[in-house]
Amino acid sequence: MRSEEAEGARRRYLYRRLVSRGALRVPLRGAIPLVGPDCAYHLYAGRDPAPAGRARRGRAAALLAALLLAAAPAGSPAAPAADRRADEPPDVDRHVAALRRRLPAAPAFTLRVAAPYVVVGDGPPDEVARLAEHVVARAAGEFRARFFARDPGTIVDVYLFKDRDSYYRHTAMLTGSPPESPLGFFSSHANALLMDVNAGEGALMHELVHPFVRSNWPRCPPWINEGLATLFEDCRDRGGRLEGAHNGRFLTLLRALDRGSALPFSSLAALSDAAFYNDPTGLHYAQSRYVFFHLQQRGALDAFCRRYAETSRDDPTGGAALADALKIEGPAEFDRAWRAAMLADPWAARLRAEGRLAPKP
Ligand SMILES: [Zn+2]
Repeated sequence: MRSEEAEGARRRYLYRRLVSRGALRVPLRGAIPLVGPDCAYHLYAGRDPAPAGRARRGRAAALLAALLLAAAPAGSPAAPAADRRADEPPDVDRHVAALRRRLPAAPAFTLRVAAPYVVVGDGPPDEVARLAEHVVARAAGEFRARFFARDPGTIVDVYLFKDRDSYYRHTAMLTGSPPESPLGFFSSHANALLMDVNAGEGALMHELVHPFVRSNWPRCPPWINEGLATLFEDCRDRGGRLEGAHNGRFLTLLRALDRGSALPFSSLAALSDAAFYNDPTGLHYAQSRYVFFHLQQRGALDAFCRRYAETSRDDPTGGAALADALKIEGPAEFDRAWRAAMLADPWAARLRAEGRLAPKP
């Protein structure tokens, strides 16, 4: 590696650490080339979209932001054009026509509208159509009917690339930088979900939740955003409704419960984006998923989402909506009931029997 490349990599690593820890806030456009579009989306979406001129965070931060903006990769696409009023429905036909013009002629891409998404894939056309209808359109329909009053304000493109090579090549072409994640991510910069289709339908389901959350609950804390998204990363059809099933995050949670390191709900709900995402153990994701799993198992998931829409202005943490949906007094009662339910879940006994958890403490 040439010395200037090494110096560039060192600087990006340093800034990335500062940004991801929340020690430094820079405008979204500046954060994208540093932490990648997915991480930047999680850190900033709906929270810090202020242009650099308004982000008065001291002379040093302003200077750094200017440096970072100058470092944005050449060829990055512009943000989606704001050429229509916010209350106007997106023009799907125009969007699809523009998309066709932007896509390379070869390989052939199949496009399917599954509003508010447009699915784009270079795999077998039948498979792209199946995913568009049975996964993407199904999820969007259920999210609308059960959880969200509004669609995302813009059409979100869902790119399903047939293999790793296609994923890396086309992501670089569409976003101006290599993929942030080896399997898939949501790029708020390109307003698109980009995935290697081999990542699986679970990863696709997870990412499909985020645009709805961003549009309906723009100021919600990360435990809600990721809790609902992770619930659907492993799900099944039960009586015509999607239902989250156990996955590997349960093991992470149970180990934390055994060790006594799980957070009280009020602490989880108070985590900033930076604190939530800076968790190499995965506990924050696991715990958030299993708060939503608990709501689901109590038949209170849909009620929580409706109640959160009504109460989030007064209580953005979601504590009030949780208490109302479960008909409980408050966080202390929730902590007791939730912990007991997790430890008593039949899957926990199975994991202990398989030796994947210590015998019951
Ligand atoms: Zn997520």
